[in-house]
Amino acid sequence: MSEEKNKMDDSLKAYTESTEIDDCMGKVKHKIMVLSGKGGVGKSTVAANIAVSLAMNGKQVGLLDTDFHGPSIPTLLNLEGKHPGTDGETIMPIEFSEGLKVMSIGFLLQNKDDAVIWRGPMKMKVIKQLLTDVNWGNLDYLIIDFPPGTGDEPLSVAQLIPGMDGAVIVTTPQNLSLNDVRKCINFCGQLSVPVLGVVENMSGFVCPSCKTVINVFKAGGGKTMADEMGVPFLGSIPIEPQIVEASDSGKPFVYHNGDTDAAKAFRGVVEPLLAMSGKAEPEAETVSSKKEEKKGMHKIAIPIVEGHLSAHFGHCEEFAIFDVDLEVKKIIGQEKAPSPPHEPGLLPRWLGEKGVNIIIAGGMGAHAQDLFAEQGITVSIGAPADDPEKIVISYMNSTLELGGNTCDH
Ligand code: ADP
Repeated sequence: MSEEKNKMDDSLKAYTESTEIDDCMGKVKHKIMVLSGKGGVGKSTVAANIAVSLAMNGKQVGLLDTDFHGPSIPTLLNLEGKHPGTDGETIMPIEFSEGLKVMSIGFLLQNKDDAVIWRGPMKMKVIKQLLTDVNWGNLDYLIIDFPPGTGDEPLSVAQLIPGMDGAVIVTTPQNLSLNDVRKCINFCGQLSVPVLGVVENMSGFVCPSCKTVINVFKAGGGKTMADEMGVPFLGSIPIEPQIVEASDSGKPFVYHNGDTDAAKAFRGVVEPLLAMSGKAEPEAETVSSKKEEKKGMHKIAIPIVEGHLSAHFGHCEEFAIFDVDLEVKKIIGQEKAPSPPHEPGLLPRWLGEKGVNIIIAGGMGAHAQDLFAEQGITVSIGAPADDPEKIVISYMNSTLELGGNTCDH
């Protein structure tokens, strides 16, 4: 084959690939990459929580994990072991929740560490496939979690993605050397991608008992540094033990811990991104803010057996769930939901996801009470084995008589 023909084949291949990428990405309004100068600074955590926050604001969001060095998005969102489906031609991303689709290199690996041993060309082949074959549909945002650092690998990934709207740079106070962030800024410069801003993660420690922020490292460095570098500062996210817990259990932190300082900081980070698609929409609805929405509105759950309140909370047949307005003491609606399988820790999550914020029970073990407290659900124990509607009416009128805990295991 002549050299000229080889060249033509290569450019035809490159053209076809770029057209395929354009086809696949054409329905994505904003592509945002999340970068860091080093691994372990919370880049994936920030990427996942940005994506969840945007989806909570009613946006259609894709989260693409291109981090070969331990793709952690499946763990962060409890999607480990999931396999994306296909319609014969395209790969369907995993639907994490309404408005959030996820694709990760991790879904394609048998073993978490497999990709680390791939050679460069193999890695790029996989990325190309993710860029050309994933059927995202219409997206407002595609958040791309990048491989860490500013070396050849992230650069090659970035070069494959056309029309990137901007980059979020994640750093930590320990790594706040001008050098580290400067490298990321230069990296964006090479690609002509605007820097949307710097996030200072793990900045200060929130004391779990008194909630005071203790600045383990010098505070305010991120802002000063961003000012010096002439790039926007998006906010400081404290070291928050609940972030580690949420990451390990695959529950998106911003969704389940809406009233923490760290979640507020995430909302600040997301604001300029929301502004890209026009006016920022009303603040995200979190599980906890949902509980306070519409003054007086609450959801009460009562465990039921044979139509009456069950004394044994964890072994009830079903739950009666009432929507009530406590201000006017009125039942607005009610439904019955069969109890989910008896698995440790499942009930608090299940009821929390249904928006329940009050439980009236006969008896409940101390551990279960703690789990509900963590979800911000109030538990009243010692209610009689009565008709659930009667119980709710007495509860609203403050005439419900509560006895002892009828079952404490
Ligand atoms: P990276 O993608 O930069 O390698 P990860 O997002 O995987 O980093 O985070 C590394 C670890 O740090 C994870 O265990 C994560 O739960 C934890 N982490 C990230 N941000 C915070 C934070 N603000 N507070 C506490 N732990 C955090």
